[in-house]
Amino acid sequence: MAEHESLTIASGEGCWLKTVDGKRLFDGVSSLWCNLHGHRHPRLDAAIREQLDRVAHVTTLGMSCDTTQRFARVLVDRCPGTLNHAFFSSDGASSVEAAIKMSLQYWRQCERPRPSKTRYLALGRAYHGDTTGGVSLGGIDYFHDIFSPLLFKPVRGPLPCSFRLPAGVPSAGAAQHYASEIRKLLEQHHDSLAAIVIEPLVQGAAGMITHPVGFLRRVRELCDEFDVLLVCDEVATGFGRTGELFACEHEAVTPDILCLGKGITGGYLPMAATVATSRVFEAFLGYSHERRQFFHGHTYGGNPLAAAVALASLSLFDNPDTAGIRLLERVRIHSDHLIVRLHQLAQHPRVANVRGRGLMLAVELAPDQGTLQPLNPEYDLAQRVCRGCYQLGLWIRPLGNVLVLMPPLVATRDELDWMIDCVEESLAEVDAT
Ligand code: PMP
Repeated sequence: MAEHESLTIASGEGCWLKTVDGKRLFDGVSSLWCNLHGHRHPRLDAAIREQLDRVAHVTTLGMSCDTTQRFARVLVDRCPGTLNHAFFSSDGASSVEAAIKMSLQYWRQCERPRPSKTRYLALGRAYHGDTTGGVSLGGIDYFHDIFSPLLFKPVRGPLPCSFRLPAGVPSAGAAQHYASEIRKLLEQHHDSLAAIVIEPLVQGAAGMITHPVGFLRRVRELCDEFDVLLVCDEVATGFGRTGELFACEHEAVTPDILCLGKGITGGYLPMAATVATSRVFEAFLGYSHERRQFFHGHTYGGNPLAAAVALASLSLFDNPDTAGIRLLERVRIHSDHLIVRLHQLAQHPRVANVRGRGLMLAVELAPDQGTLQPLNPEYDLAQRVCRGCYQLGLWIRPLGNVLVLMPPLVATRDELDWMIDCVEESLAEVDAT
C-alpha cells in the first residue's frame, strides 16, 4: 500500500474498461481471469435483471431457488463423466476447501472405509486459493511461507513443467518422467492419501506453468491404481479458458471432484462449485440420524442472481458468432494464432520463454535464460513492461517476471493482435531506457 497508485474504474463495455478519468483500458487479465463474454453483455445483464424481479437471494440450506436448481442441472450435464452433483459456495478458495473436506469424509463413509486417508498430495508451486486449506496445499513460498505455523503438510509432488525439463529427460518422455515421480510418492504414501489435488494442464498463479501433454491422464490412472481420489482445481482453467469447457476434457479425464469458480458466472458475480461424481455423492447419502451429510455450508452458496447469470453465460457457449463460429472453437483458433505471434516475440533478448493453452498465455522475461525463476516481485522488468502497456491502453498484471495475458474469451482477432503489439512496443521502450 505504501506505493499504491489508485486506478479507479467507472464502467466497462465488451473487453474494455473506462477509468473515472475517462481513460480506456483493454482488460488483458479478464478482471482477474474470470471475464469470458466481455463486460455489460446484454444477455448477462438481462439475466440478472430478470432474476432480480423474482428474488435476489434465498438459502440452499433446507430450500433452494428454481434458478439455482436449473443451473445445477445444466452445469452437471456439461461436466464430464459422472460428475453429477454440484455443491455451491462463493469463491474458488471455498470450492477447494469443500473438496478437501469432502475427500476426507468420503474415505470415512465409503463402502470400504479407509479412515487413515487424511492427507493430500499437491504439486510443486501449487496454488489453490488463500484460505487455510488452500494455502496448506499451496507451494508458492513467496505467498505461503509465512503462514506455515497454521498449515497442514501435504505430500509435495513435482512441478510438472513442460518447457524446462530435468537434465536427461527428453520432451517426449516428460509426462512419463513426472508421472513416475508421482508413482514413487504414491507407493510410499497411498495408505494415508485421501486425494491428489492438481490444477490440470496449466498452473496459473505459479506463472502459467504448462504441463506436458499426457501427464493428467497418467495421474488419473495412478489415482485409480492406488485408490486415491483425484481433485482437479479448474478455478482458473474452467469455462473455456484452455479451449475446452474444462481442461480435463483435453485428456478425456474425469476427476472424482472438480473445483470451479471464476468464469462460472462469466465473470459477473461471485460463485463457485465443487462438483462430485455419483460415487462420491453416494458416500454422503443417508438419513439425518446417520450423520452422513457434508457438514459445510455457505450463506450465499447457490445465490440465485449468480445462478441466473451463470446459466446465461453457459448458454452463450452454444451461440455462434457472426462468422458462425462457436466460442470454444474461436478460443482455439485465436490461441493458435497468438502462440505463433508469441513465438515471434520470443526472439526478443529479454524474453526467456512464451507459453500457454487456449487464452491463458504467458511471456516470461529473462533475468537469466535457462533456469526457472522463482516468482520474484523485486525484479521489476515485468512491472515496467506492464506500466508501458498501461500507457498504450492495455491493462495487464505480472506474476513475478511473467507477463500474464488472459483476455476475455470474446476478444476479437484485431484486439488480440493489438494486445501483442502493445507488449512488443512496451518491451522495446523498456529496452531503450
Ligand atoms: N484455485 C486456482 C487454480 C486459482 O487460480 C485461484 C485464484 N486465482 C483459486 C483457486 C482461488 O480462487 P478465488 O480467488 O476465487 O478464491
